[in-house]
Amino acid sequence: MADWLELSVEVDPEAVEPVSELFARLGYNGGVVVEQPLIVPNGEYPDWSALQQPEIDPNRPISVRTYLPDDEEAPAKRQEMEQALWYLGRMRQVGTLNVKPCKEEDWANAWKDYYGIQRMGERIVIKPSWLEYTAKEGDVVLDLDPGMAFGTGLHPTTRLCLAALEEFVQPGGLTNILDLGTGSGILAIAAAKLGGPSARVLALDIDQIAVDATLENVERNGLSGQIAVEQGSAVAAQNNAPYDLIVANILATVIIDLAKSLHGLLAPGGTLVTSGIFHERGDSVVEALERVGLRTREKRQEGDWICLVSDREW
Ligand code: SAH
Repeated sequence: MADWLELSVEVDPEAVEPVSELFARLGYNGGVVVEQPLIVPNGEYPDWSALQQPEIDPNRPISVRTYLPDDEEAPAKRQEMEQALWYLGRMRQVGTLNVKPCKEEDWANAWKDYYGIQRMGERIVIKPSWLEYTAKEGDVVLDLDPGMAFGTGLHPTTRLCLAALEEFVQPGGLTNILDLGTGSGILAIAAAKLGGPSARVLALDIDQIAVDATLENVERNGLSGQIAVEQGSAVAAQNNAPYDLIVANILATVIIDLAKSLHGLLAPGGTLVTSGIFHERGDSVVEALERVGLRTREKRQEGDWICLVSDREW
């Protein structure tokens, strides 16, 4: 299997957005992981089999991470990152770039140690596929193995999107749903389960690794009849348009670029849920959506991250 380089840097909250954008531009397939330090009681990770929400420690720096295939292009990209970080570091608190070689299997498994059964929203339970959980009445259980794809449910943006889906997707209600940038498939699976058998979901991602992980997770949850999974972005979504609801948890820049397409894909009166937006970028996303006829009616925030709920006006 291929070998990879893990590149990470510790930054202050204000530097998260520019560093994420830099990493998204140079890292493998635009993938960026932003890790907020969790409070670890008594220096020990809590019993993850119990239902609980990790608490974020505001006093420690945030770590931003990406991956690169360890090939002949890696040294030039690494140098470009170091240079850009150095410039950013003159204005903001940015650490030095840590580079660590890693094997593909390690990468896929590393986060499992920190990943337990989590309850979010009112009814959603994220169950890692290797843990047992007995569902209680009313639980919407998502059985997931994200592998190397983004979407463990640990990220605030994923939680914000899940809460929004829980609110907007009801059985027999919205029937045609798009999950753009599906990662592990977490949001598509939640939407299909919340919407019941009449809901149809298209899950798209530009990253083949995400597509493969989603296919497996859809199968694991017995939803192959309801969720179609494809590699691609807005263009691939056109065949099934218009959508009653679109959820896109990507990055501010990507949402701004896709604003016009998102408007075209959404049914009049439809709802758009966007996240992956660092708080400082919230206004620029709201403006970009407004310009194309998508009016934002709610701005929700968890930590440094924003989730927007917008309607198609015309
Ligand atoms: N929906 C998941 C994953 C979000 S991570 C969750 O909420 O946790 C964002 C995902 O968007 C990544 O898997 C990335 O590969 C994908 N992505 C990035 N740019 C994209 C684009 N232009 N179109 C579609 N997917 C994109």
